[in-house]
Amino acid sequence: MCGIVGYVGHRDCTDVLVSALTKLEYRGYDSAGIAVFENGKIEVAKTKGRLSDLVAKMEREGKPMGHAGIGHTRWATHGEPSDINSHPHSGRRVTIVHNGIIENYKQLKQFLIDNERNEFLSDTDTEVVAQLLDFYYDGNPIRCIRKVLHELRGSFALGIVFADRPETVYAVRCESPLIVAQGQGEVFIASDVPAVIKYTKDYYLLEQGEIAVLKNGAVQFCSLHGRMLEKELHTADWDEDSAEKGGYPHYMLKEIHEQPTAVRTTITPRIEDGLPSLSECGITPEMLREFQNIFIVACGTAMHAGMVGKYVIEKQARVSVTVDIASEFRYRDPLLTSKDLVIIISQSGETADSKAVLNLAKQMGAKTLAIVNVKGSSIAREADMVIYTHAGPEIAVASTKAYMVQLSVMYLLAFEMAYAKGLINKKKCAQLTSELVKMPQIIEDTIESVVDMCQYVSTKLITADSLLYIGRGLDYALSMEGSLKLRPFQISRR
Ligand code: GLU
Repeated sequence: MCGIVGYVGHRDCTDVLVSALTKLEYRGYDSAGIAVFENGKIEVAKTKGRLSDLVAKMEREGKPMGHAGIGHTRWATHGEPSDINSHPHSGRRVTIVHNGIIENYKQLKQFLIDNERNEFLSDTDTEVVAQLLDFYYDGNPIRCIRKVLHELRGSFALGIVFADRPETVYAVRCESPLIVAQGQGEVFIASDVPAVIKYTKDYYLLEQGEIAVLKNGAVQFCSLHGRMLEKELHTADWDEDSAEKGGYPHYMLKEIHEQPTAVRTTITPRIEDGLPSLSECGITPEMLREFQNIFIVACGTAMHAGMVGKYVIEKQARVSVTVDIASEFRYRDPLLTSKDLVIIISQSGETADSKAVLNLAKQMGAKTLAIVNVKGSSIAREADMVIYTHAGPEIAVASTKAYMVQLSVMYLLAFEMAYAKGLINKKKCAQLTSELVKMPQIIEDTIESVVDMCQYVSTKLITADSLLYIGRGLDYALSMEGSLKLRPFQISRR
């Protein structure tokens, strides 16, 4: 997971790109680079290492000065981390940054070689895209991008500049996320909203295959088929502070401390007269009575929240719940009918496998419910019903508050369903709900009381070669999530 940014406006472009990339550092990276139009020419600066290494290099060798450009932090997938493999990559007249993987890059490279285009400097799949764009470029950028899009397989987001189209940035995506943010006379592209929230809160979500053209401080969109598009402008309800570390030494600790607020903000609007009420999300008691089977489909942490959901929904609402990992579900010819409910849980609302399951479930006539954290995300828009969790931006790789709000929603749903089906009476439902209402305070007290102990225990665990999580029932689901949380740490220790 690397970061892509781009800028067209009145500010010092290099400063904006570096500042925005800094906000994406949490995604992890091994190299960084930028390409900026300076006096009508594309100037590239890139290096293996940290953003601070890039800044130091530009201080030594000269910083590109201009008002339009693209930037990148790379997490190497094709070719080792090195100066040469760092992005941007260029063809003769095209320079690009790329997030993701081009699955058919070998065939495309062969095609270029067969057509006497053997100008590759790096080992990356990205450079093949740059060369392919160059190969097809006939002076019409949109036509060229559309042509190349039809040939690429894989997941990618691209920021593109053409040497003969100064002060203009093109962007496109397929699977990998990309937003376009609109400020006062300036426009940005970024892999994620927090990267540019310092400059503006207004953003567009770029959809699969849509092309954005950033020019003169404004943006225009066109479809894969070349049709001009009007898109909805979203406004982030976070501020810069909530996307920053807020005085904590790292994001994960900040987000651990935000759990009580996140849970409170998620459950409070869904409780009426002491009882759960999900009607504003499009879920009625009548519906909840009808479902024959429930499928909870998600990936990673969200799937583990679903595993807890299975225990509570089956226990309270006596309906069969199957939990599946999205990447498997979509390939196993599932049995779904119009009487079934498919619940998709996804923090970002953009998880590719989960989105594919949503489409499959809809095609098969099942009702779909999305539980997502990001407003206006693809999964939220395409599902029949949506319950938004209100965790705010979650930056740390190991999920904390987003997981906690997903659990809260599972409980709300289980209680409302049990009550709708007459399996618990009003008094019991109110009592269970009141227990849930106490959770934010309990979480707060727990964090307070265990923080020192956690720090002590972690000093003991840090030297362990391996750790075994053991649990049964709800603790099994919790153990799975616990072990997932340690994995990035284990990898980084190797
Ligand atoms: N596949 C590209 C590379 O290895 C992009 C990786 C990324 O997403 O940073 O250079």
